[in-house]
Amino acid sequence: MTRCLNCGAERTADVCAACGLSTVAAEFSLRRKLLARTAIFLVGSLAFLAAGSQYPALELDGMLIFIGVVFFVALTLAIGVERRALRHTEVEALKRIYYGLIPLPWLLAGLLFVNGALDRSPPLLYPTRVVGKFSMPGLLGSRRLVVTSWRGADRFERIAISRSDFDRFRRGDLVIVDVRSGLAGIPWVAGVSHR
Ligand SMILES: [Zn+2]
Repeated sequence: MTRCLNCGAERTADVCAACGLSTVAAEFSLRRKLLARTAIFLVGSLAFLAAGSQYPALELDGMLIFIGVVFFVALTLAIGVERRALRHTEVEALKRIYYGLIPLPWLLAGLLFVNGALDRSPPLLYPTRVVGKFSMPGLLGSRRLVVTSWRGADRFERIAISRSDFDRFRRGDLVIVDVRSGLAGIPWVAGVSHR
């Protein structure tokens, strides 16, 4: 049994009875939809990075790893659908999982944005000390101050920080980290200043 690549209906002839597309046209239509959704997914990932640098969650690195894994899985699925379409094998299941992942970066981006932009909670000021810092090149670039944690001994916090702030701090500096509770309950860092 073969299914129409455009609408997923069973097809018995070259022209799909459900949507009226020929095999070739259905394949073209599928490819166009895949490209469009992949673009939406990529822009969503950029929106997530932007929201994450504007309102950096304390656990931003964990979220970045999660989005990175989703990104890898999604692109693998997209390639899988494309290859199966070329071989004219079943694509419906993979396609649905792939389409299901498309909104995920947008949802997380919106969550981080609302969590920070609409947050009216009072600042929680934590005195701490810079024990290291590092910057990673790449998309949007990311810089972290490593400070001793206020959430328990022997722990460290990696604070996402802007380029100008990054140059202001040195290892050993005594600093105050301004943390907000977040509208959605995701703590985020509003700023770092010298003590
Ligand atoms: Zn069809």
